[in-house]
Amino acid sequence: MHKKPVIGALTIGPAVIGALMIGAFATGLGLATVVSAKSNEPLPEDTDWESVDWKSRLTRRQYKITRQAGTEWPFKNAYWDNKRAGEYRCVCCDQPLFSSDAKFKSGTGWPSFFQPGDGSAIDEHEDRSWWMTRVETRCSRCDAHLGHVFNDGPRPTGLRYCMNSAALRFVGEGEEPTEEAE
Ligand SMILES: [Zn+2]
Repeated sequence: MHKKPVIGALTIGPAVIGALMIGAFATGLGLATVVSAKSNEPLPEDTDWESVDWKSRLTRRQYKITRQAGTEWPFKNAYWDNKRAGEYRCVCCDQPLFSSDAKFKSGTGWPSFFQPGDGSAIDEHEDRSWWMTRVETRCSRCDAHLGHVFNDGPRPTGLRYCMNSAALRFVGEGEEPTEEAE
Protein backbone atom coordinates (compact mmCIF):
# COMPACT_ATOMS: atom_id res chain seq x y z
CA MET A 1 0.00 0.00 0.00
CA HIS A 2 2.87 2.31 0.68
CA LYS A 3 4.64 1.00 -2.37
CA LYS A 4 2.97 3.19 -4.91
CA PRO A 5 3.84 6.53 -3.35
CA VAL A 6 7.41 5.35 -2.87
CA ILE A 7 7.69 4.37 -6.50
CA GLY A 8 6.08 7.65 -7.43
CA ALA A 9 8.65 9.49 -5.37
CA LEU A 10 11.45 7.52 -6.93
CA THR A 11 10.10 8.23 -10.38
CA ILE A 12 10.02 11.95 -9.88
CA GLY A 13 13.20 11.82 -7.84
CA PRO A 14 15.62 12.71 -10.64
CA ALA A 15 13.40 15.54 -11.80
CA VAL A 16 13.20 16.93 -8.29
CA ILE A 17 16.92 16.55 -7.79
CA GLY A 18 17.52 18.16 -11.14
CA ALA A 19 15.32 21.09 -10.20
CA LEU A 20 17.11 21.42 -6.87
CA MET A 21 20.46 21.34 -8.58
CA ILE A 22 19.41 23.99 -11.04
CA GLY A 23 18.15 26.02 -8.11
CA ALA A 24 21.42 25.59 -6.24
CA PHE A 25 23.38 26.43 -9.36
CA ALA A 26 21.33 29.58 -9.90
CA THR A 27 21.81 30.54 -6.25
CA GLY A 28 25.51 29.96 -6.64
CA LEU A 29 25.61 32.20 -9.66
CA GLY A 30 23.67 34.86 -7.78
CA LEU A 31 26.14 34.77 -4.92
CA ALA A 32 29.08 34.88 -7.28
CA THR A 33 27.63 37.97 -8.92
CA VAL A 34 27.16 39.71 -5.59
CA VAL A 35 30.69 38.89 -4.48
CA SER A 36 32.24 40.12 -7.70
CA ALA A 37 30.16 43.27 -7.53
CA LYS A 38 31.66 43.90 -4.11
CA SER A 39 35.25 43.65 -5.14
CA ASN A 40 35.84 43.13 -8.82
CA GLU A 41 33.66 45.42 -10.84
CA PRO A 42 35.36 48.80 -10.95
CA LEU A 43 33.26 51.91 -11.31
CA PRO A 44 34.08 54.20 -14.21
CA GLU A 45 36.72 56.85 -13.57
CA ASP A 46 34.29 59.73 -13.96
CA THR A 47 32.08 58.44 -11.14
CA ASP A 48 30.93 61.02 -8.61
CA TRP A 49 32.93 59.39 -5.83
CA GLU A 50 31.21 61.28 -3.05
CA SER A 51 27.85 59.82 -4.00
CA VAL A 52 28.87 56.16 -4.09
CA ASP A 53 27.03 53.84 -1.72
CA TRP A 54 30.21 52.31 -0.34
CA LYS A 55 28.40 50.13 2.17
CA SER A 56 26.75 48.19 -0.60
CA ARG A 57 29.96 47.81 -2.60
CA LEU A 58 32.45 46.94 0.11
CA THR A 59 32.74 44.23 2.69
CA ARG A 60 32.39 45.34 6.30
CA ARG A 61 36.12 45.24 6.80
CA GLN A 62 36.85 47.16 3.60
CA TYR A 63 34.26 49.76 4.57
CA LYS A 64 35.61 50.18 8.08
CA ILE A 65 39.17 50.62 6.87
CA THR A 66 38.66 52.79 3.80
CA ARG A 67 35.65 54.91 4.69
CA GLN A 68 36.06 55.10 8.48
CA ALA A 69 39.87 55.22 8.68
CA GLY A 70 40.13 51.90 10.49
CA THR A 71 43.24 49.80 10.92
CA GLU A 72 43.37 46.06 10.44
CA TRP A 73 45.34 43.60 12.54
CA PRO A 74 48.97 43.07 11.61
CA PHE A 75 49.80 39.65 10.15
CA LYS A 76 46.08 38.88 9.85
CA ASN A 77 45.50 40.51 6.52
CA ALA A 78 45.72 39.45 2.91
CA TYR A 79 48.92 41.00 1.59
CA TRP A 80 51.46 41.57 4.37
CA ASP A 81 53.45 38.56 3.15
CA ASN A 82 52.39 38.56 -0.50
CA LYS A 83 55.51 38.20 -2.62
CA ARG A 84 53.89 37.90 -6.02
CA ALA A 85 54.65 40.32 -8.82
CA GLY A 86 51.82 42.64 -9.70
CA GLU A 87 49.99 45.81 -8.90
CA TYR A 88 48.11 46.98 -5.84
CA ARG A 89 45.03 49.04 -6.59
CA CYS A 90 42.54 50.96 -4.49
CA VAL A 91 39.83 48.52 -3.45
CA CYS A 92 37.22 51.26 -3.78
CA CYS A 93 37.93 52.89 -7.14
CA ASP A 94 40.56 50.63 -8.75
CA GLN A 95 43.16 53.37 -9.10
CA PRO A 96 46.65 51.79 -9.32
CA LEU A 97 48.58 52.67 -6.15
CA PHE A 98 51.66 50.52 -5.70
CA SER A 99 53.79 48.11 -7.67
CA SER A 100 55.13 44.94 -6.10
CA ASP A 101 58.57 46.29 -7.12
CA ALA A 102 58.33 48.82 -4.30
CA LYS A 103 57.13 46.35 -1.66
CA PHE A 104 59.56 45.43 1.08
CA LYS A 105 59.62 43.30 4.18
CA SER A 106 59.03 45.74 7.01
CA GLY A 107 58.35 43.23 9.78
CA THR A 108 55.27 45.19 10.82
CA GLY A 109 52.68 42.71 9.56
CA TRP A 110 51.20 45.20 7.11
CA PRO A 111 52.00 45.47 3.42
CA SER A 112 54.74 48.09 3.14
CA PHE A 113 56.08 50.00 0.17
CA PHE A 114 58.91 52.49 -0.20
CA GLN A 115 57.17 54.49 -2.90
CA PRO A 116 53.82 54.78 -4.68
CA GLY A 117 53.53 53.70 -8.28
CA ASP A 118 52.44 57.21 -9.15
CA GLY A 119 52.85 59.93 -6.53
CA SER A 120 49.68 61.68 -7.65
CA ALA A 121 47.60 58.64 -6.72
CA ILE A 122 48.16 59.24 -3.03
CA ASP A 123 47.10 62.26 -0.97
CA GLU A 124 48.67 62.98 2.38
CA HIS A 125 46.88 64.42 5.39
CA GLU A 126 48.02 65.18 8.90
CA ASP A 127 46.51 62.71 11.34
CA ARG A 128 46.53 63.64 15.04
CA SER A 129 44.51 60.69 16.32
CA TRP A 130 45.77 58.35 19.07
CA TRP A 131 47.96 61.07 20.64
CA MET A 132 50.37 60.96 17.74
CA THR A 133 51.03 63.06 14.72
CA ARG A 134 51.19 60.86 11.67
CA VAL A 135 50.79 61.33 7.95
CA GLU A 136 47.66 59.63 6.74
CA THR A 137 47.52 58.45 3.14
CA ARG A 138 44.36 58.49 1.08
CA CYS A 139 43.49 57.58 -2.46
CA SER A 140 43.55 60.78 -4.50
CA ARG A 141 40.64 59.63 -6.64
CA CYS A 142 38.03 58.41 -4.17
CA ASP A 143 39.44 59.60 -0.83
CA ALA A 144 39.70 56.08 0.62
CA HIS A 145 41.82 55.83 3.75
CA LEU A 146 44.76 53.59 2.90
CA GLY A 147 47.15 53.78 5.83
CA HIS A 148 50.05 56.00 6.86
CA VAL A 149 53.48 56.96 5.59
CA PHE A 150 56.52 57.13 7.86
CA ASN A 151 60.09 58.34 7.49
CA ASP A 152 61.78 55.11 8.54
CA GLY A 153 61.68 53.24 5.25
CA PRO A 154 64.51 51.77 3.22
CA ARG A 155 66.44 53.33 0.39
CA PRO A 156 66.06 54.90 -2.08
CA THR A 157 63.23 56.99 -0.60
CA GLY A 158 63.52 56.42 3.14
CA LEU A 159 59.74 56.20 3.21
CA ARG A 160 57.52 53.44 4.53
CA TYR A 161 53.99 53.38 3.20
CA CYS A 162 52.25 51.22 5.76
CA MET A 163 49.05 50.06 4.12
CA ASN A 164 45.93 48.15 5.08
CA SER A 165 45.41 45.10 2.89
CA ALA A 166 41.67 45.69 3.04
CA ALA A 167 42.17 49.00 1.23
CA LEU A 168 43.98 47.28 -1.61
CA ARG A 169 43.19 44.90 -4.42
CA PHE A 170 46.12 42.96 -5.75
CA VAL A 171 46.25 42.17 -9.46
CA GLY A 172 48.96 39.67 -10.31
CA GLU A 173 51.13 40.27 -13.34
CA GLY A 174 49.37 39.19 -16.51
CA GLU A 175 46.10 38.50 -14.69
CA GLU A 176 44.15 41.17 -16.47
CA PRO A 177 44.09 42.32 -20.05
CA THR A 178 46.06 45.51 -20.62
CA GLU A 179 42.97 47.57 -21.21
CA GLU A 180 44.26 50.52 -19.18
CA ALA A 181 47.84 50.23 -20.28
CA GLU A 182 49.00 52.72 -22.86
ZN1 LIG B 1 40.36 54.99 -4.56
